[in-house]
Amino acid sequence: MSVSARNSGYEGETGAARRERILRAAVGQGLLDPDTALLAGFVDLDGVEGTVTSLRNAFPDSLRVLHAFAAKANCLVPVLEELRRGGMGCEVASAGELARALEAGFDPAHIVFDSPAKTRAELARALSLGVAVNADSFQELARIDDILATRDTVSRIGVRINPQVGGGSISAMSTATATSKFGIPLTDEGNRRRLLRAYRDRPWLTWVHTHVGSQGCPLDLIAEGIARAVEFAEEINAHLGRRQVTGIDIGGGLPVNFADDETTPGFDTYVDRLREHAPALFSGAYEIVTEFGRSVLAKNGFMAAYVEYTKTVGGRPIAITHAGAQVATRTVFAPDAWPLRIEAYDPGGTAKHGRPVAQDVAGPCCFAGDLLARDRELPLLDAGDLVVVPDTGAYYFSTPFHYNSLPEPAVHGARVDADGHVTFRPLRPAPTADHAVPDHAVPDVAVLAGR
Ligand SMILES: *Cc1c(COP(=O)(O)O)cnc(C)c1O
Repeated sequence: MSVSARNSGYEGETGAARRERILRAAVGQGLLDPDTALLAGFVDLDGVEGTVTSLRNAFPDSLRVLHAFAAKANCLVPVLEELRRGGMGCEVASAGELARALEAGFDPAHIVFDSPAKTRAELARALSLGVAVNADSFQELARIDDILATRDTVSRIGVRINPQVGGGSISAMSTATATSKFGIPLTDEGNRRRLLRAYRDRPWLTWVHTHVGSQGCPLDLIAEGIARAVEFAEEINAHLGRRQVTGIDIGGGLPVNFADDETTPGFDTYVDRLREHAPALFSGAYEIVTEFGRSVLAKNGFMAAYVEYTKTVGGRPIAITHAGAQVATRTVFAPDAWPLRIEAYDPGGTAKHGRPVAQDVAGPCCFAGDLLARDRELPLLDAGDLVVVPDTGAYYFSTPFHYNSLPEPAVHGARVDADGHVTFRPLRPAPTADHAVPDHAVPDVAVLAGR
């Protein structure tokens, strides 16, 4: 199908109209139900495809680029499968994420293992599979030396450097500060020399990695950090008189706009900025790996939850919904850093357009701070209505918090055909009634009976 044919149908529809279409279909098909399906996540799979295409198109065809999706942003195996089919690789940071990436069918050569705490066993496994590894410290390099003393590997191995260019507006997301726990700090006394020796002594060390930070880091800061990594790669190669460093992993971190439906900044803006700061990255001399997470999925997902009750307390209307800290952990605990929009829909999934009234939107968890929004102007919510929380496709419903033994919600993938008809596929099954009782906690009947 041509691009224009796609855009003239409903497949290219975006924003609130798209959410309403998916929501109404979900209610119609019973994926949301006030008795049995109180909360669910949705991923717009057409939207994901479009985002992955825009990422690929942002880099010139002449460069060899592997776009490795940061699995922590949405680790559901069917989501990872979709991304693999879209041509992406996968960035993992634990044995669990590696297992999910392998289950999703990624070729080990397209998996990148980053973590500041890789164990000996994890390193040995990654190196025997041929998964790329970015060492986070000199101590980790010594462990890799030990492993490679007894076996070969086809893994591409690099070092994560911390360019120490500073942080962004959210300190918890800033990984290139002077004292960050990530990578080898490039500007600390003696480290440049030590690193040059490390590359000289290890001909298999052929990559340089950096990830400046995530949400809240300005593009110029990210581009500046990457520029330092590229300069350092050039310095290594000049120092050794050979092109030993052949690849640069530039990390992820493109910030997402949570204020409205605009996707800004786009990947093309990011690449323009990179060209300004780090022209050598585009020389063709280096292979490139990227590690975007949030910017690939955040705007392609939303949560929907029923309002169970409403009340007015101290003059303030409060809607008690089924979405709270268990799925919006960061927003509940750090509301200023992670604000989310809320939209009001009637029980059938049609947007409410009443006069805006300041109200609190609360979750089900048993602590007073479990609020998705405070004093938010919205059409007045009634019991039985639905609230939609846009921009939650990354880091929200796939990384739950098990407070109050609340279940992990079902997640559905949605596609919209040219006639506007929505089809769903399960990305995570609905929780079962006894989800919260792990096997080992079920008391033995004999014990219960006192025998
Ligand atoms: C979290 C992380 C990413 C992804 O960051 P986003 O902000 O989701 O793009 C990439 N690389 C590393 C090493 C990370 O820790």
